[in-house]
Amino acid sequence: MKTNQVRVRFAPSPTGMMHLGNVRTALLNYLFARQKNGSFVIRIEDTDPERNFDPTATKIIQDLSWLNLNYNEGPFKEIETYAPYFQSQRTIIYQENLDILKKKELVYRCFCTAEELEKKRQRAIALRVAPRYDRICADISEHTIQEFLKEGKPFIWRFKIPHQGQVTITDLAHGIINFDLSHFSDFPLTRADGSFTFIFANCVDDFLMEITHILRGEDHLTNTANQVLLFKAFDKPEPLYWHLPIICNVEGKKLSKRDFGFSLNDLKNSGFLPEAITNYLAIIGGSFEQEIMDLEELVNQLNFDQINSTGNIRYDVEKLRWLNHKWIVRYPIEKFVPLVLPFIYESYPLAKQFNPDKMQQLISLVKTELTTLGDIVPAINFYFEEPIATKEGVLSHLPEGQQVDFVHAIQGFIASYSDPAQFLIDLKKVSKDLSLSAKAVFTVIRFAVTGVDKGPSLKDTMEILGKETVLKRLKQIF
Ligand code: GLU
Repeated sequence: MKTNQVRVRFAPSPTGMMHLGNVRTALLNYLFARQKNGSFVIRIEDTDPERNFDPTATKIIQDLSWLNLNYNEGPFKEIETYAPYFQSQRTIIYQENLDILKKKELVYRCFCTAEELEKKRQRAIALRVAPRYDRICADISEHTIQEFLKEGKPFIWRFKIPHQGQVTITDLAHGIINFDLSHFSDFPLTRADGSFTFIFANCVDDFLMEITHILRGEDHLTNTANQVLLFKAFDKPEPLYWHLPIICNVEGKKLSKRDFGFSLNDLKNSGFLPEAITNYLAIIGGSFEQEIMDLEELVNQLNFDQINSTGNIRYDVEKLRWLNHKWIVRYPIEKFVPLVLPFIYESYPLAKQFNPDKMQQLISLVKTELTTLGDIVPAINFYFEEPIATKEGVLSHLPEGQQVDFVHAIQGFIASYSDPAQFLIDLKKVSKDLSLSAKAVFTVIRFAVTGVDKGPSLKDTMEILGKETVLKRLKQIF
């Protein structure tokens, strides 16, 4: 099947949890495919069984679905022409393709042991020359090869690269990039156990899956140079590349496990919304008039025909937090409640028995204050826990001379309490009568009722707490 359709792929190796770098790669591939009406393909690069912690790729697929990055083709969405989408199921295909290179005499067996190679490498370093495989095995006679094979001597297949000239890559952001081949080694296509290397399997899959554009991290640049040689060796058209800038931490170092927010799980568990994460990763390093965009808006707004993203980009958690807050504010309350309930239930198990309407009312009171979903816990603490407040502490917000009169007035309001609205009218009146600032008076009552100095309006706070609780808390102080 040959089409002019754009086909991009996200090809994770399931050796670790999803992190921001690969989420961004997945996202940009998704957005690129959507904008170009192309296909977004998922291929699982699971050729390393020992490091494969997610053999069915369930976790990766769940993460993509949580991020709303729906794919057109991949595991569980197979298209016969291109399937299977797990590299571990494609060994025969790689063998057939290696045979093609054998017939073209572009590969040779290398019997050098790891120790021998390491020695040569050290020697090159000592001589201050770039380590490069000396191609000694390319000249072994057929007779010796047969001897070695009979002895069961382990070997790998190496690709014979042109030792001179240049290899050229076309990159959407960097333009033309030339690599001098005199620095390159004949790279391995297989491992000693017969399995296939990343460089080989990844390239074979890309042309068999008719991938037109490869969007991946800049750390793959050297791999790309080698793979372009492979495309040529197979007489396959080379895809266009976009090497994405590396995401760095505040110190300018490549973002790593040690940085907060590196792993998608961490972000998810501390209450970041998928919309905020994808929004952030799509605009990171760029400048946009309108910054808050959902996936549809990003598809329409991003200019993939003029990519100027080169150089490292800095991960700014504060910006992500800001976007998360904006997304929380944007969320309709009905959709928001189920997202925060797990956080609430974990800290306040009693809440499971609460009336859902009441819960929704409580959540909507504090929603616009939240930066992450986890912030719901301290924000509604006033509702679940008695305030830690003392009479002295609470009254310290008022001048000493008026404290007695104020307490006296409040005691009167408690005795005649009907509802928050009336209470607040009384409170304003007493602030006037005693020449106290309304702000100070409200702060005193807020402390007495909630134990903290911020939250929803005092009226809303008192209403949600209910008459009985309000009076109980007021009486404890006054
Ligand atoms: N499995 C590779 C990785 O996770 C894929 C790189 C690529 O996109 O080609 O880095």
